Amino acid sequence: MGPPRQRQLEIVSVKWGEMNPTIAVREALTWVTECMGFGIVVCPLDGLLTVVTELHHHDTDSSNRIYSRIAAPSITPYLYSVFPRKSMSVLCIAAHPDDEVLGVGGTLARHAADGDDVHICILSDGVTSRYDDSDAADKEIKQRRQRAEQAADTLGATVSLHGFPDNSFDTVPLLDIVQVIETEIEEHDPDVVYTHHYGDLNIDHELACRATITATRPLADSEVDRVLAFETLSASEWSVPSPDNAFQPTSFVDVSDHLATKTDALSVYETELREPPHPRTVDTVEKNAEVWGSKAGVPAAEPFELLREVRR
Ligand SMILES: [Zn+2]
Repeated sequence: MGPPRQRQLEIVSVKWGEMNPTIAVREALTWVTECMGFGIVVCPLDGLLTVVTELHHHDTDSSNRIYSRIAAPSITPYLYSVFPRKSMSVLCIAAHPDDEVLGVGGTLARHAADGDDVHICILSDGVTSRYDDSDAADKEIKQRRQRAEQAADTLGATVSLHGFPDNSFDTVPLLDIVQVIETEIEEHDPDVVYTHHYGDLNIDHELACRATITATRPLADSEVDRVLAFETLSASEWSVPSPDNAFQPTSFVDVSDHLATKTDALSVYETELREPPHPRTVDTVEKNAEVWGSKAGVPAAEPFELLREVRR
């Protein structure tokens, strides 16, 4: 989490000379706030920072400004309280309903709780390859869509579902999948994109990752800062192990406060859950988060492999 992107913080040095430090700080602040709307001045005598901001952005009357003098080490939390973090737009590209919860549910819930806009794009209804009878398939698709909406609602996200054939993404042109993801990116303008890992056993997961990497390629007008691959239990760890496809996380998100929301959302997909020792159980999901958390020094974590990051 960096400083707010919309604001440019500036440090101004003031030659104190014979001037009373209080007056010098005031004069420096006046100059800084007239230029920037807010200001920070460090008083070298006591090491304190003086921060000024406007109480109401539309009201430039100086009486409405807040002046605070604070100890230097506390500047970062103070600034975040005065200039809240810019909310992000987050997009999750998942192959099937339930992948989004298994892989990144805690992190999405955390984004939503932080005030970020969270959208989930699910590429397949996850049903079509299982049925020959189209009436039964239609009914199941409808139920899957309802569950996906309920799960997204639980996480604090919105969701859109597409109709690519389940377990058969390799039967459609990759470009078709890329174009759907490009349309989602155009609509949601995400800062961060989460998707499957390229090494997953499931062919749809592998191609969802490939299509996402293509759709988020760093063109001059792209605003996607980060693309991260999540782990999907029963797909990421079931690949033939090789250095080329191993899930090797480089980034961890503390989801301790959001694990319950994740398991609530997972319970919506009860028909996709299995009996132990299958990895797709609520108990395993919780234990897995604890194990990853222990590797990252937090109670519970979701792991990610950073696929691309662009700092502008
Ligand atoms: Zn899947």
